[in-house]
Amino acid sequence: MTAKLIKGKEIAAEIRAEIKQQADVLKSEKSITPGLVTILVGENPASQSYVRAKQKTAHELGFHSIQENQPADTTEPDLLKLVEKYNIDPAIHGILVQLPLPKHINETKILYAIDPDKDVDGFHPVNVGRMVIGAPAYLPCTPYGIQQMLIRSGVQTEGAEVVIVGRSNIVGKPIANILLQKAAGANATVTVCHTRTKNMADHTRRADILIVAAGIPKAVTADMVKPGAVVVDVGVNEVGRTAEGKRILVGDVDFEPVSQIASAITPVPGGVGPMTITMLMLNTLQAAQRSAS
Ligand code: NAP
Repeated sequence: MTAKLIKGKEIAAEIRAEIKQQADVLKSEKSITPGLVTILVGENPASQSYVRAKQKTAHELGFHSIQENQPADTTEPDLLKLVEKYNIDPAIHGILVQLPLPKHINETKILYAIDPDKDVDGFHPVNVGRMVIGAPAYLPCTPYGIQQMLIRSGVQTEGAEVVIVGRSNIVGKPIANILLQKAAGANATVTVCHTRTKNMADHTRRADILIVAAGIPKAVTADMVKPGAVVVDVGVNEVGRTAEGKRILVGDVDFEPVSQIASAITPVPGGVGPMTITMLMLNTLQAAQRSAS
């Protein structure tokens, strides 16, 4: 069997077109332009490139977007003041603080300072709590993107055995909660594996849908996958550079052999990655729409 490729890039493009259209309606009917501020502290090259990509997408969608570049020695009180400035700015509907922050700043304190109604990354405990109980919430972008990929690829989650490898707060735990909900695009039976899981392959081999977010290249090999499973590879691991100096990226799944067994699989790059920024834009649009009502 050769798996169907779930092309996140194409699904993301489809969702972005919908966002643009809804943003145009919001502008013409309510004179509201979705506003997003991205706050970057320091000069971490990976963070700079993530923030650039977010800003570029926001511009393409016609959003009002602000990039705040703060020096690496910015103090915690100064960063809190900056967050507060945007908490009360009516032109800004979404605030994103790019992680990781420098060691001298308490990340939790900064994330908790963001107004939950502007927390478009979905990391504030108010939004996490709402997500867990199934109330309307900003969902964290990567897991939200994974759910949308499954829905838009026609993958049935209802009653499916979903096995997740990884229990981080940004991927593993939220995707488990999202797919567990009593709701359309969810209703799955969910198992979460981590480094203390015994006999992990016994779990992964039961999965109708296997979601891997371990941060380890080839953490999942073909012998760990049930024939016909849908495999979502969240991992992004740099394994070298091309002669031109471009990063060579692989996921957490041993792609070639697993794609001979799975019924569908997400590639790396071009799978989950493009969905993450798109869901950030969707959350920002929804924040702007809520501000209108
Ligand atoms: P993380 O915080 O490092 O968490 C990794 C999780 O995987 C942990 O829960 C860890 O278990 C578990 N784990 C690690 N090795 C394992 C193994 N051999 N067997 C079973 N479980 C194992 O990572 P993360 O932030 O969730 O990210 C995971 C991957 O996704 C990374 O490659 C990251 O770059 C990528 N990512 C991609 C996107 C995107 O937009 N495409 C977004 C976010 C993350 P313990 O809890 O027991 O340590």
